[in-house]
Amino acid sequence: MSFLIPLSDLDYGAEEAAAVRRVLEGKWLSMGPETGAFEQEFAAAVGVPHACAVSNGTAALHLAFLALGIGPGDEVIQPAVNFVASANMTKAVGATPIFGEIVGLDEPTLDPAGIERLMTPHTKAVVVMHYGGYFCRMTEIREICRKHHLALVEDACHAVGAKCSLTSGSAAAGALGDIGCFSFFSNKNLVTGEGGMVTTRRDDLNDRIRNLRSHGMSTLTWDRHRGHAATYDVLAHGYNYRIDDLHSALGREQLKKLERNNRRRRELTALYWQNLASLESLGWTLPFRKLSTSEFPLSTFSSSACHLLPVVAPDADARWRCAEALKSAGIQTSLHYPFIPGFTAFACKESRGGLDKSIVFCQRIITLPLFPTMTEAQVQAVCEALIAAAHSRQPSASITPSAL
Ligand SMILES: *Cc1c(COP(=O)(O)O)cnc(C)c1O
Repeated sequence: MSFLIPLSDLDYGAEEAAAVRRVLEGKWLSMGPETGAFEQEFAAAVGVPHACAVSNGTAALHLAFLALGIGPGDEVIQPAVNFVASANMTKAVGATPIFGEIVGLDEPTLDPAGIERLMTPHTKAVVVMHYGGYFCRMTEIREICRKHHLALVEDACHAVGAKCSLTSGSAAAGALGDIGCFSFFSNKNLVTGEGGMVTTRRDDLNDRIRNLRSHGMSTLTWDRHRGHAATYDVLAHGYNYRIDDLHSALGREQLKKLERNNRRRRELTALYWQNLASLESLGWTLPFRKLSTSEFPLSTFSSSACHLLPVVAPDADARWRCAEALKSAGIQTSLHYPFIPGFTAFACKESRGGLDKSIVFCQRIITLPLFPTMTEAQVQAVCEALIAAAHSRQPSASITPSAL
């Protein structure tokens, strides 16, 4: 079905069409000069020396774990509230995901306070995911990783363009750990269709990531094409995780629009929060809203990528009822995400318990439409429909604000 107001929409125009035409006319479609330029421009935007473009965000995570030497017997601490890619890629390298708890329903990112309890002598790395484009508590998490010599991987797929202030100055998502991973899938803030990026400050990790991206080969087709190399060696058992120049050309145009579009997302988010504030007295939670009203440990509202607009219903029943009501009104919603340890393939066996808040969040979360070309009138329409649905079949007397 097509929706009156979709969950997300592209900001594509003549610039993207011209970029694709430029590549077609140049007749070099696979990884080449557009990709090199995209990588340089992306690295500059994140503020790191290295960015390596790849076929998608999942490939980025896989290469991150491989480059860090994570393998069989190792454990990787990561949030249970996440897309499944990080957990799947942990399994792909033969390691075990250990799921950590979120801070709360209003801050559904990995709680630093629970990380040390999950550690064993097998723990090799921590993965953070900046849910919705809002930073995890990175000062504390970086300190824990430093203290215990753990690698830190940012799943920054929601957070392209997000910036936070540290005592050492401001830094972008993807520059705060050993490796940052990005996705440019069609619903993300920077869209190429399929596509991804790996960022790092470390030369050794960058060398390994680049090598594993293309079969472990010592030279690229593009270099041989230009006569820079005649043959190649295979240095490691690699993959084909290359992006191509059509996607990279799209990425370069989208990167130019990123700051403007993220600013627009922040404006629309502020409008949503203003309109939906009354739902809090009905037991609803507006995650991250406190960022706009009070002191926050690390990130500031002005720095978020505002990728998602999550709202947490008072109970699972209200979640389904309101999602259905919005659907009938032509408004698309989604759930970010189902609880990973609840999936058949994960089946709770890796869980060390203490995930009550994550479970509740996953049962009650709804994500509302948010995209840079959205109008204020569309935000109003979504808010009116949600408020009406939240008030229908009104058992408000029995709802006490959650202690979570
Ligand atoms: C989109 C996404 C991924 C996976 O990216 P793909 O490009 O679809 O492979 C991983 N983690 C998070 C948090 C995501 O949102």
